[in-house]
Amino acid sequence: MSLTNLRCTACGLLYDWRQLQNLCTVCHKPLFPEYDLAAAGRTLTREALQGRGKSLWRYREVLPLPPEAEPVSLGEGGTPLLPVIKWGKNLGFSNLWVKDEAQNPTQSFKARGMTTAVSMAKYLGAKKLAVPSAGNAGGALAAYAARAGLEAHIFMPNDTPRANIIECRELGAHVTLINGLITDCGEDIARRKEAEGWFDVSTLKEPYRVEGKKTLGYELAEQSDWQLPDVILYPTGGGTGLIGMWKAFDEMEALGWIGKKRPRMFSVQAAGCAPIVRAFEAGEEAASEFPNAHTKASGLRVPKAVGDFLMLRILRESGGGAIAVEDEAMIRVTREIGSAEGLFVAPEGAACFAALRSLCSLGKITPEERLVIFNTGSGIKYLECYQS
Ligand SMILES: *Cc1c(COP(=O)(O)O)cnc(C)c1O
Ligand SMILES: [Zn+2]
Repeated sequence: MSLTNLRCTACGLLYDWRQLQNLCTVCHKPLFPEYDLAAAGRTLTREALQGRGKSLWRYREVLPLPPEAEPVSLGEGGTPLLPVIKWGKNLGFSNLWVKDEAQNPTQSFKARGMTTAVSMAKYLGAKKLAVPSAGNAGGALAAYAARAGLEAHIFMPNDTPRANIIECRELGAHVTLINGLITDCGEDIARRKEAEGWFDVSTLKEPYRVEGKKTLGYELAEQSDWQLPDVILYPTGGGTGLIGMWKAFDEMEALGWIGKKRPRMFSVQAAGCAPIVRAFEAGEEAASEFPNAHTKASGLRVPKAVGDFLMLRILRESGGGAIAVEDEAMIRVTREIGSAEGLFVAPEGAACFAALRSLCSLGKITPEERLVIFNTGSGIKYLECYQS
């Protein structure tokens, strides 16, 4: 581990990683870990990686957690980057890939963030962890907290997919259902956490979930022979994966592993909850809360994200963009991908496939480019969506 300190992404203030931290206490924006990358690069080389295990902890030098501590791990990361063979051939997509995150523990990429967040929280002495979740974050926290021997307190909107709620309970978590949105759940935790002794592991409100998720970027580069794709489509809720990958690209450039070229990053949201799309189109630097947020893609039902300004900056810097997809289109595409490719994707992943068509007809991407979609979860958690 070469972690040196935490830095506020907005005001630049430095914080000590040896204590539990949430947001910047001055400006209330996310803190990011910083590493001594020159030191990391002495043992972490592209060649050294070839001999390591497939879990995301293979990038240990650029992850938090001192070397003497054992990570809380269930074998997360190391998911396949699969070619999309049949789907989209008629549209001319000839170099389309999907990173299948459904193959993580608890069937979503939330496992990546939770392995690092729970490992650090345990190391720094937290006993009770709390999270608001409209879906997969809850299941992942429940699993990693159980593994770590810590308590998990999970606040979910009462219309969260049943599989997520049952999963959390069976993994031993304390589940509270709220008549409201994920933002309401977050407010409940914020109000009670001090009295209850909970450590809040909300996405980007503690510094380490983004570190687990950034390994999406490391894996993508490694699996593509260190050539990043032309375009990335990412189903965006809190945006942690998008923000994390961008951080990984900068770190890999500093390590001398990749050059300056970056993929064009596209944020895909649901038409019923598209705060980033709206802010991107309006040319704004931050996104206002999206009113009456609704979508079956529960991972995308985030009406207000604390990392909005980071996402918007990345989308613009990369020359990418943001696009919204209707729920009906997600559900339709799910079966197309299922029957053509053998993957039962989550609606969030399906949204990216649906977005491809629109981006193509808008001229934002060309079908011959190397395109990577993130299927962030499994359709098996969303059975309610497919009953008819
Ligand atoms: C949480 C989640 C998302 C959104 O991820 P962020 O990194 O918070 O934007 C997308 N898809 C699925 C399946 C999720 O569970
Ligand atoms: Zn700050």
